[in-house]
Amino acid sequence: MLQSLAALPGFYVPSLYEPRYDQTDTSDYPTFAGLTPQDGAPPCVTKVRAVFDGPETVASTAILTPETEFGDRAMIEVARGCTKGCRYCWVGYNILPFRVHTVDDVLAAAEPWLPTTQRVGLVATALLDHPDIEAIATSLRERGLQVFSPSLIISTLREPLLRSVVESGQRSITIAPEAGSDRMRELIMKKITNAEILEKTRMIFRAGVLNLKNYVIIGLPGETEADLQALVNLCTAMREIMIEESRHRGRIGTITLSVNCLIPKPATPFQWAQQIRPSEYAAKLRWLRRRLAKVPNVAIEAMSPRSAEIQALTSRGDRRVGDLIELWAETGSWRQAVRTWEERGGSVDHFAFRALKPNDPLPWDHLRTGASSKALGNQWRKALGGNVDAAA
Ligand code: SF4
Repeated sequence: MLQSLAALPGFYVPSLYEPRYDQTDTSDYPTFAGLTPQDGAPPCVTKVRAVFDGPETVASTAILTPETEFGDRAMIEVARGCTKGCRYCWVGYNILPFRVHTVDDVLAAAEPWLPTTQRVGLVATALLDHPDIEAIATSLRERGLQVFSPSLIISTLREPLLRSVVESGQRSITIAPEAGSDRMRELIMKKITNAEILEKTRMIFRAGVLNLKNYVIIGLPGETEADLQALVNLCTAMREIMIEESRHRGRIGTITLSVNCLIPKPATPFQWAQQIRPSEYAAKLRWLRRRLAKVPNVAIEAMSPRSAEIQALTSRGDRRVGDLIELWAETGSWRQAVRTWEERGGSVDHFAFRALKPNDPLPWDHLRTGASSKALGNQWRKALGGNVDAAA
């Protein structure tokens, strides 16, 4: 049965792939050397693309309950994928191509919810890339529904959709400038400048939004204190715009900086990057908190250093990290699990805090989910200005 499934596109049977480790490796921990397919399993697993046509293919809320996030609204997926290609992002290189649902299909998906809720959340990684997003929002509003969108890509942010969500009662908008300096944004291929971000910030507050949340990543390759200072400057400039645009309403909101540590994700150009250690990440966070503590109406929330470490291991680990996860489940304590795992020969450093070389075999090489290794490698080289060796 498993052998038959393994032969079909889209099925992955891990037990039919035997890992190899480099026994000649002189470092403390043997490096992953590849997988050998067993019992006729194909060398690579290919992805099957979901059908994205017709109302029955629209993913939407199945059960509306206050026990969940966004429990008061029907969430409807209107598009999937993204064409932007930010170099750290899995979606940009693996959910391909960008696909959209038609206006009619989205309206049909919303229809059953009409007696239950007046609130609809539109879901997509690149919502504003949908060519008919304004028509979708307008049609839903004409049916008496309020339209919400959890987070919006800032480069494509436009006034009509902003107006729709504000008129529906949404007071907070989330965007993702990702970095404070244009230099860091170029590195990750986020194609927007600080000047453009501030222009959009004005548009957001002028439309009546009260609070603005910004997702940012720190610990990017080559990041310096000047890049962190640029983040502080950006928040300060956003705050000034918020005050200017909100003063006449008599209510000032909050600029929130939501900080995440760069986690190198498999099957992205940054899969070879070195993640900064939790102590370095914590120091950068402290630095930011100290600077931003002096700026009123600006709040900071952040991924914890421990979460960054866990994500690094689960993101780039091979099967040997499975033992650590089992230990964690048994002990209920991450620290204790790491201690025991390392005593038995495991290595957090090996998986999490090491730059990989472009030709290193990777534990996910056999899973063909999107862009080719060559395309990812080209992007990684471009990010580093051709100097890949400097990162390894
Ligand atoms: S980070 Fe956002 S804009 Fe960039 S590729 Fe991913 S989904 Fe697209």
